[in-house]
Amino acid sequence: AGQATSAEVVGALHAIADLLRDNEDELGRLDAIAGDGDHGRGMTRGSAAAVEAAEHAAADGVGPAAVLVAAGDAWASKAGGTSGVLWGAALRSFGDLLPDDRAVTAADLAAGAEAALAAVQRLGRAELGDKTLVDALVPFADDLRGAVDEGGGAVAWRRAAAVATKAAAATADLRPRTGRARPLADRSVGTPDPGATSLALVLTRVGELLDG
Ligand code: ADP
Ligand code: MG
Ligand code: MG
Repeated sequence: AGQATSAEVVGALHAIADLLRDNEDELGRLDAIAGDGDHGRGMTRGSAAAVEAAEHAAADGVGPAAVLVAAGDAWASKAGGTSGVLWGAALRSFGDLLPDDRAVTAADLAAGAEAALAAVQRLGRAELGDKTLVDALVPFADDLRGAVDEGGGAVAWRRAAAVATKAAAATADLRPRTGRARPLADRSVGTPDPGATSLALVLTRVGELLDG
């Protein structure tokens, strides 16, 4: 990955918002099986707010890190729901580690993923196996960290996103141990966790956008 610019961060957020809008109905359907059905709507609303805030920040001339931090704050405040708070904090933490004055390295991406995971776990307290987006984010961050020594950040990211996609699909076998889906945990068996699913979609899309 080369030096990230504010415009590239805004462009990536646009692509994420488009992707989530395209998947809104499906994510809502997944969340309706044992949750309250609003995951698609929340992700669409949060990502749209993130784009708007990022555009404003970029127009003010701030660097890519500050653009992502502003996007995370807007996502958290506008999305509603548990996942909105967690996504906002994750973006903000990732943004905090993005360099403004030099090229983004594979190590930066891995550190960003680990910081995002730490923020999600600090706020949500979910552990591996609780059937949440943590079940996709932990293997993603682990794989990305492991791949850093092997070369380019974009290739490593795409490989880690494939690992996250498999892990998100595998949450179908789990019973929710936290969040709104917990009271109807049995109904959720056989269906992947909506938050893990949307995370894997976004990580895959970002991998397509990274160059290298
Ligand atoms: P809500 O559950 O408040 O309606 P959403 O429907 O937008 O929010 O998001 C649901 C998703 O949030 C779940 O599928 C799960 O991945 C994630 N989630 C819920 N609770 C937690 C938690 N404590 N830690 C991490 N992720 C969580
Ligand atoms: Mg919900
Ligand atoms: Mg809700």
